[in-house]
Amino acid sequence: MELNLLTLCYLIASVTFILGLKMLSNPASARKGNLVAAFGMTVAIFGTIFLFEDNGEKLHNYIWIFAGLLIGTVAGTLSAKKVKMTAMPEMVSLFNGMGGACAALISAAEFYHIYKLHEASPETPFAELATVGHYITIVAGAIIGTISYTGSIIAWGKLNGKVKDFSFKGQHIVNMIVLVLVIATAVWVYQSNIGSMYIPFLLIGFFAFIYGILFVMPIGGADMPVVISLLNSFTGVAAACGGFLYDNKAMLTGGILVGAAGTLLTILMCKAMNRSLTNVLIGSFGGGNKATVEGGPAKAQGNYKEISLADAAMVMGYATKVMIVPGYGLAVAQAQHICHELEKILTEKGVEVNYAIHPVAGRMPGHMNVLLAEADVSYDKLMEMENANDEFKTTDVVLILGANDVVNPAAKNDPASPIYGMPILEVEQAKTVIVNKRSMKPGYAGIENDLFFQPKTSMLFGDAKKVLQDLCAEVKAI
Ligand code: NDP
Repeated sequence: MELNLLTLCYLIASVTFILGLKMLSNPASARKGNLVAAFGMTVAIFGTIFLFEDNGEKLHNYIWIFAGLLIGTVAGTLSAKKVKMTAMPEMVSLFNGMGGACAALISAAEFYHIYKLHEASPETPFAELATVGHYITIVAGAIIGTISYTGSIIAWGKLNGKVKDFSFKGQHIVNMIVLVLVIATAVWVYQSNIGSMYIPFLLIGFFAFIYGILFVMPIGGADMPVVISLLNSFTGVAAACGGFLYDNKAMLTGGILVGAAGTLLTILMCKAMNRSLTNVLIGSFGGGNKATVEGGPAKAQGNYKEISLADAAMVMGYATKVMIVPGYGLAVAQAQHICHELEKILTEKGVEVNYAIHPVAGRMPGHMNVLLAEADVSYDKLMEMENANDEFKTTDVVLILGANDVVNPAAKNDPASPIYGMPILEVEQAKTVIVNKRSMKPGYAGIENDLFFQPKTSMLFGDAKKVLQDLCAEVKAI
């Protein structure tokens, strides 16, 4: 009876995961989708704690379980409440790493069970204690989970600027050697049948740990979005391995959904960046001719011209069509609400206003969609890159708010540029381009932007929030 109830809990969890994921694909239902999936996860967790039985024995170490739950809940809730919108991608990366670490620890605990059996009867061959399939699942969970953990921690450091891109000559060969060592140690542990195998097992984890660091360290510039979604899919696959090990349907469904969604997102991100996955993983990214990754001023490429607030308001107020291009700086300034306000004021004056969304604008997939949804910007007003690029030809004014790399023409014109080949928003097709940022400093990829020096472009310097507040007042006064 209880087992049936537990199966029902897992069924509810699996269904809510699928429904939740479906709802997450639309900003209007995303918040509800998150809650639906969280409800399912709660049912699965408490179902397991109170209903799970193994050979008629229930779980008993409740103090450990609830202490762990309490610490995790408090830490998770506080950090999610405290996190600034701009630090959200870092937090997602950190949480993803924690998921990978959990999956790896599940594998370690399972291996420990086999190790104990082996210790009790050393004459029994290892292969009789664990089938190849069982062993592969344990090891795959440990390796993929560990790589996801260290890779995500490095990605977290890169997103908050604490870790700089790092590569050396022949790094890909070193990476390959470490990967071969991971697999070779795994095979050796299974075949050698030596008495104490826990230490060699930890060696697999150690090599995977190093591989995770080495594999993400050199990737930088504009390629981080691909790596982040790839690491998401790794965590999903590692969790699915845990689901196999425990024959836990909810964990399996959850892991497979995360793995599949992460893989699809990786493919979409590769498409958005116009790169193959191999190219991202073994190409020399973060390298190339970066100008000033540390954030110093980019080399001047000529003269740029500035526009006053009054003139900018005039140009937009009398335009027929305005396209807003949001970027990371809009999130930094937390200017999404005032941006929506400007959109409403312009619309009231008869101007058609839309938003051009680049798939990697900001610091996480869908960052701009989330940001603008927070300010209740209508989803119909958001144009995907391809549609926006068609629209620019008939646009009077493009207002760029804290975007840089995603409008950098070097991606089209300069084969030596680290972002060469990445599709961009082709804003220069519009009649007038107004760029709002605080200085001439480069964006995430650390490279100069020729757009700022083109005759059509005018710079409107200042913090996006302040500039938009002043613009609203000026446009109203027209
Ligand atoms: P960028 O990082 O290229 O540029 C952001 C610009 O915003 C900066 O040049 C900065 O200039 C300006 N800015 C910062 N703060 C403010 C502010 N308060 N007010 C006004 N402007 C401000 O952003 P994009 O969105 O154009 O491009 C995203 C980049 O991040 C791409 O290279 C992408 O590959 C990468 N990336 C994306 C991820 C994703 O999943 N979306 C993940 C990881 C990386 P200034 O300092 O002069 O103000």
